[in-house]
Amino acid sequence: MTNLLGTHAIVIGAGIAGLAAAKTLSSYFESVTVLERDAFPERAEPRVGTPHCRQAHVLLRAGLQELLASFPDLENELERAGAVRTRVAVDVLIETPGIDPWPQRDFGFDTLCMTRPLLEFVVRSLTRKQANIALQSQCRVKSLQLAADRRVTGLIYEHSGATRRMSADLVVDASSLGNMTLETLDACGMPRPEETEIGVDIVYGTGRFRIPRDESRGWMGVIHRPAAVSGRGGFVFPCEDESWQVTLNGMHGDGPPDDLPGFVAFAKTFRTSTIYDAVKDAPLLGSIHRFVFPNSRRRRFEALTAFPNGLLPIGDVICRFNPAFGQGMTVAAQEVGVLRQLLDQRVGTPSALDGLAPAFFAGIQNVLAAPWSVAESDFIYEKTRGARPADFVQRMKFSGALQRVAAEDADVHRLLIDVNHLLVPPTVLRDPQIVNKVSARMAAST
Ligand SMILES: Cc1cc2nc3c(=O)[nH]c(=O)nc-3n(C[C@H](O)[C@H](O)[C@H](O)COP(=O)(O)OP(=O)(O)OC[C@H]3O[C@@H](n4cnc5c(N)ncnc54)[C@H](O)[C@@H]3O)c2cc1C
Repeated sequence: MTNLLGTHAIVIGAGIAGLAAAKTLSSYFESVTVLERDAFPERAEPRVGTPHCRQAHVLLRAGLQELLASFPDLENELERAGAVRTRVAVDVLIETPGIDPWPQRDFGFDTLCMTRPLLEFVVRSLTRKQANIALQSQCRVKSLQLAADRRVTGLIYEHSGATRRMSADLVVDASSLGNMTLETLDACGMPRPEETEIGVDIVYGTGRFRIPRDESRGWMGVIHRPAAVSGRGGFVFPCEDESWQVTLNGMHGDGPPDDLPGFVAFAKTFRTSTIYDAVKDAPLLGSIHRFVFPNSRRRRFEALTAFPNGLLPIGDVICRFNPAFGQGMTVAAQEVGVLRQLLDQRVGTPSALDGLAPAFFAGIQNVLAAPWSVAESDFIYEKTRGARPADFVQRMKFSGALQRVAAEDADVHRLLIDVNHLLVPPTVLRDPQIVNKVSARMAAST
């Protein structure tokens, strides 16, 4: 290998961020070890370390593309394992307030629908095929090790009741919570990043249902976006074994119960009867699982003036988003894309890993900007906690008018779909021709 930047890298956590990071690091380090506190299931099954994995997980098109850069066989392997191919904007019916439903238009690209355990199982299997990556389960990382110059040089973890140490040139924290990164900053006498929160207390409930036969349905999945007054929404996505994952959610503590009659009754309160009609007679497979998500949270690592060498946080440790927008895995994969570029640029440079984290924090700001501004749309709910952006009312007016224009204009619709799938930045919607159409629509409705 000629690209080497170091001997050994460790990744904490075998979630989507951790596995994708490990695969990228394997091109730049002699060996990579992933330490995961859970046992790895032998099949595509939920595990305790990721309780959210029982909720529907949408992989946006940009996320699939980024993961394909790390795992070229991913699309084939997912389909082989039971993922369901859907045509974007055709097969999944979208209902938003005032546009119930959106026109179904074919823009020529697909996404894959599957449960999160299936996605993780396939990504994990592909990671295992990389000879210089070791996936070690039931290893709970306790703390990071520091040298006298405040460089992270490894970590301490527990396995089978014993405490062990492992050294590395780079430790990547993909543990989601990020406590070890924060505690290491404390130990170095460096300030922690400031945190921006958008408090939503979103309550999810998800059940798997056998798909009833109905030739007249005309869709494979549904996204029902909530109106500001109710905050209640839901999704139906096809997944493996000819079943649907049905997720219903409410905001600020309101949410679906975990008993079937209550779950179905919750769907009946939506603006349209699409999801209710779909689930009312569908057989439930297993139980309904609830999950409460308190807040979107962005840690401002980019503003820190000091950060230890040898450490790199990634994924939800840096930023997590209201899951209803389906952005977290895609953003994690895009962050790995930024990491790959940075590592590439550093090949052959002296002290190549020094200053990696600050460069990474700066590099991912473009990745985070658009999905974070989507998360900010939660300020339409009166009870949402946090600092509402000063231009919020104007932004929402523009967005509402833009959606009405897009529902009528296929070209604008296509751009909006690309933006929603995080394929292009939202600035494409600031094209003067589009802004003129949107402004005219806004003027007409005042
Ligand atoms: C309810 C819900 C629904 C979601 N829906 C979507 C969706 O539709 N689409 C989407 O793109 N994203 C969704 N997300 C977000 C998505 O799950 C994450 O953003 C994404 O998976 C990236 O997470 P991660 O890899 O950083 O962390 P995680 O997936 O949480 O993985 C962290 C891993 O670290 C391990 N770990 C933690 N501490 C330690 C330790 N001390 N030692 C060893 N291992 C440790 C954990 O066991 C876990 O395996 C959803 C999230 C939630 C909560």
